[in-house]
Amino acid sequence: MISMSQIKATEPDIEAQDILNAWRLIFEEKYSSELDRFSLCEEDVFGFEVQWNYLKNTPLHSIFPNSPTKCLELGNQVIREQFQTRNSRTRPVIRIIGFDEEFSYQLEDVRTRDRGRLLSFNCIITNLDTPMGWLKKSEYICNDCETTWSIRQSLARERERSIHCSICADSYYKEMKRTEGKAKIPPPTNISMIVEANVYEDIQYIELTCPIMLAKHSEDETKNPLFHYLAVINDEYVGDLSLNQEVTVNAWVELDHLPNRDFAMDTRRVFIFKVHSIEPGFKT
Ligand SMILES: [Zn+2]
Repeated sequence: MISMSQIKATEPDIEAQDILNAWRLIFEEKYSSELDRFSLCEEDVFGFEVQWNYLKNTPLHSIFPNSPTKCLELGNQVIREQFQTRNSRTRPVIRIIGFDEEFSYQLEDVRTRDRGRLLSFNCIITNLDTPMGWLKKSEYICNDCETTWSIRQSLARERERSIHCSICADSYYKEMKRTEGKAKIPPPTNISMIVEANVYEDIQYIELTCPIMLAKHSEDETKNPLFHYLAVINDEYVGDLSLNQEVTVNAWVELDHLPNRDFAMDTRRVFIFKVHSIEPGFKT
């Protein structure tokens, strides 16, 4: 995964430059009036919908299916620049919609080999959990040398904490080695979290079912329980969906790593769908 700071610090590779240029052209040629209009909105996060169709005559058409995360991170960088030039403080996020046939998939056909793919599913929403915030990125500062650094957290994993400053640790261990542990110097642990620089994200766990399975289930006389798939939505989608809503969900297939879930017997239980974008209604 490429972080924003790495992109700024180093020359982007050739593929990254192609991606950046493609996004700039799409925004300038297809969305300039929308950018003018939406940059006036006052929400903290704004989902900016981009038609997949506009990516198709650009290098993104071939790069996106293999590197969707890279394409989206660079695209979000471009659209943030576009909002910033328009003096907007809103954080826009690209939501690609209108994916074509090659992305279409049935929930019931997903297997573990599909892990990491971004696919498009017809879904019915069967459960909505309580929305919550999670710490996405935490910032630290060393009180001795004033270096700052950040740690990207992973959703539903134990929070990673910094325990020392790596710059100060370097000289500390060198000095300790030189004096065979006899140096009277403080350990490199004089660090603090910069609470106001922490980045939180709103998320909501939801459950989905497959319309085909639902239809089979209603005709099934043995009445096996209907299977529900776990998915997670973020930012502007949180709190915006309703039960039994029919939607097209464009999502990454991921494996759930919560250790206390019961995976037994049913491999479908290991999936978690990380939602990229949602469109009303089923795709035909
Ligand atoms: Zn330090």
